[in-house]
Parts: sequence; structure tokens; C-alpha cells
Amino acid sequence: MVEIKLTNTKTRRKEVFEPIDASNVRMYVCGPTVYDRAHLGNARPVVVFDVLYRLLRHVYGADHVTYVRNFTDVDDRINETAQQRKAAGEPGALEELIRARSDETIAWYHADMDALAALRPDSEPRATEFIAQMVAMIEDLVARGHAYAAQGHVLFAVDSYPAYGGLSGRSVDDMIAGARVEVAPYKRNPMDFVLWKPSSSDLPGWDSPWGRGRPGWHIECSAMSFALLGASFDIHGGGNDLMFPHHENEIAQSCCAHPEADFAHTWLHNEMLQVEGKKMSKSLGNFFTVRDLLDQGVPGEVIRLVFLGTHYRKPMDWTEKKRIEAEATLRKWYAQAIQGVGRGDPYIGVVDALADDLNTAGAIAELHQLSLANDVATLRHTLQFLGLMEDEAPEWAVPKSFDFMDYVDALKTLRAEALETKNFAKLDSFRSSLKAAGVEVQMTKENVDLLATPDFDPAKLEGLL
Ligand code: AMP
Ligand code: ZN
Repeated sequence: MVEIKLTNTKTRRKEVFEPIDASNVRMYVCGPTVYDRAHLGNARPVVVFDVLYRLLRHVYGADHVTYVRNFTDVDDRINETAQQRKAAGEPGALEELIRARSDETIAWYHADMDALAALRPDSEPRATEFIAQMVAMIEDLVARGHAYAAQGHVLFAVDSYPAYGGLSGRSVDDMIAGARVEVAPYKRNPMDFVLWKPSSSDLPGWDSPWGRGRPGWHIECSAMSFALLGASFDIHGGGNDLMFPHHENEIAQSCCAHPEADFAHTWLHNEMLQVEGKKMSKSLGNFFTVRDLLDQGVPGEVIRLVFLGTHYRKPMDWTEKKRIEAEATLRKWYAQAIQGVGRGDPYIGVVDALADDLNTAGAIAELHQLSLANDVATLRHTLQFLGLMEDEAPEWAVPKSFDFMDYVDALKTLRAEALETKNFAKLDSFRSSLKAAGVEVQMTKENVDLLATPDFDPAKLEGLL
């Protein structure tokens, strides 16, 4: 069996991955808050953990991996959109408008991530469907002395969990000094964080032992991962912007509610995405969504290949130059891979590269080797494994079928003339024009064959006949 190594944030070491139960490898990844279209940065963890999911399925079997990624659909920004729509006269209760906004955003998310060939997780729980489990977990934390109710809020008491801060390696004092903690009169310690908070009557709320309210963000993931994967599971992932406080708080909640278990064994964090060397932000004007790129005609496979070019633990820079290079590379690979057939095992060199802490750049180097060796079948199977090719190459990359008959006839005529007159100038010039248009000319004594290369551009043949 292939040995997988992963860099575990918890231990800060690259470790051999050993699943708790090889017949059911379990992974949880923090998903999006569904208030708007996903920006390009949001797509990075999706692609990173999709590669890991594909690798795990390959090594342990497709039926032996459970991947859960949540949708956060309790959020002020979702509420705001719904309130604006209601104010603009849209019919329906606020709850319905909120639900409609979440539904709409989830549908966009699916369409955009499908376009990047990210496999859907086995389960995509919505926070609003697990409120009862969250309330139960909070009650349990209160009963165990790890949380307290105050003024309609329930807070987690960080002093009750000495290991708090272990993931990010910060002490509580450092965190207080460095973080923007919300100071509130009902907090015993400024680091205490919200498990439950009251809801005003004009906003969604759920009944609870502490009155009508709604859950804090962190408890969502603790409750949903427990409900769907159990108290201990194998891998927890997300962007490194979530390490503190979100993941630190997830650990505190889950480990205190289930002291018999140890929550996630391996923590993986992807670094952030930048654009042309700068942080992506609306004020810099370099903020765009996955849909913006797709609408501009950038194929999803191209976005995916650019992402795979950078290791997940390094900041990744999206540049126009990389986009152009990735597109040219894929055109070349597809022209070869379409000569292979069917599905089959991926190249072991690529599997090994991924097994080494998801070395996707190494995997791409291996693909270049397969291409150089013109191993079209293995190239095809490996591209499919990596989500870079469906059963057929995508339409944008396949040279249009073109009828070269008239050009073949013209070449034959020119050759006959040249042989007679001993003047090859016209024939040579015709051949060069074909070449310049991306057409490969193969002439034997008996035959003339014209083949479109991946660079074939029919527009360049205009006026040649
Ligand atoms: P959010 O919806 O803001 O909670 O983010 C959803 C996911 O996108 C989280 O896993 C974040 O870590 C990730 N994310 C947000 N911005 C970026 C970025 N610029 N680069 C990479 N990942 C990001
Ligand atoms: Zn989470």
C-alpha cells in the first residue's frame, strides 16, 4: 500500500498517515459561509482537499473514504441580503428569503467548484440543519464546567481547558495581546468565546435553554463533525487563516465535550492565494470570483492546473503568465491523451509525489515526463485521476476537425509542377504557410497527409488556395 505522508499542523511535523479505520478514512474541511459567490481564494482549499480526497480514495478505495464539508448558513451577511430584498418588496417571510439566499449561493458554489473538477464531498451539512446537535453539545459543555451562561449568551471558558492554544502554539496571554478580542461585560476572561448568543426578534433564532438565539460559528463544525464523523476522526482541513481562533476553538469545544476522544488526528492548512503578488482585496481592484474567470473563458481545468503548480503550504500567486502557460500545457497534453483510451491506473510516479505531503508540483513534473515519453495511455489515465481531464478532452482544447482535402490536392498539383519545372519555390512557400498555420505536412512519394497540431489556427489558412 502507498505510504502517505502529511504535514500535521498539530505536531509541526511531516508524519506517516495512519488512519484510525482504513475501511472508513474520515476527513472534515471547513466550508464556505454562503452569502455570496466564491472568490478565487476560496477555491484554493477546495482544490487542495479534492486532491487529497482523490489520493485517499485511490489508496484506500473509493467506498472507504468519508469527506464532509459544511455550509455555514447562519450569518449576518446572509441576513442582510434577505433584509434588503424584503425592503425592496420581495414577497415571503424573512426566514424564507434567508433560505432562498443560502440555496442560491450553494447552487453557485456547486456550479463553480464542479467547473474546477472538484468532487462533491460525501456529505455537505448545513449548519441550520444541526442546531439541535449544537444545543446538545453546548449543554454538555456547561454541565462539564467548560462553559457558562451569561445575559442570554453562552461562553466557552478558556481557563477550563489548559491545552487551549496548542494548535497555533500561542499562549492565552499572547493571544490576548495580539488578537482583536471582543471585550464584553459578561465574559469572565476576554478570550472566552461565544457558543450561543441571543437573536433579536427580527432575525432568525432557535429556542434553547438560554432563550431564543443562534449558535456561534465555531460550535457548528464541532457539532457537525461529531454527528457525521464521530468524536475522533483522521483529517481536519482548512485555510491557515482559520487556524486561530476557529480551529483552536473547535479543538477546545470537541475535546472538552468528548474527553475520551482526541478529535482530529491530522490537521492540514493551506496557505493563502494572492493575485500578481498582492493580497486579493476589493480596494486593490484585484478581487475576482471563480465565476468571473469562467465567464471570461478561462477553462476550469486551467485554473486547476495553475493551483496545482504551487505546494499547498506555500502562498500561491495567481498570475496571467501562469494562466497562459497552463493553457498551452493542457492543449499539448490533451492532444496526446486523446490518442489513449478508457480509464486506468494513474502513473505511480504521480501517486508517489502526491503521497509525499501532496507534492502537486512534483506530480506536474511527472506529467511532463509522461508527455515527453509520449506515453499517451498513462498520460490520459493520470490526467483523469488528477481531475484535469474528463472522459474526453474538453472542447476548447481539441483542434477542430478540418477538411484538408483541397490543400492536399493543391500540394499534389504544386509538387507535380515543381518536379516538371525543377522550381520548388511555390511548393516550399505553400508548405511554410501550412506550417505557420499549425498544420503538419507529411509527404511521401505516394501520399500527402496533413495533420492539425495543437497550435492549428484555421484563420491563418485564409487566402492560401
Ligand atoms: P470563508 O467563506 O471566508 O469562511 O472562507 C472559506 C474558505 O476559504 C476557508 O477555508 C478559508 O481559509 C479559505 N480562504 C479564504 N480566503 C482565502 C485566500 N485568499 N486564499 C486561500 N484560501 C482562502
Ligand atoms: Zn470549521
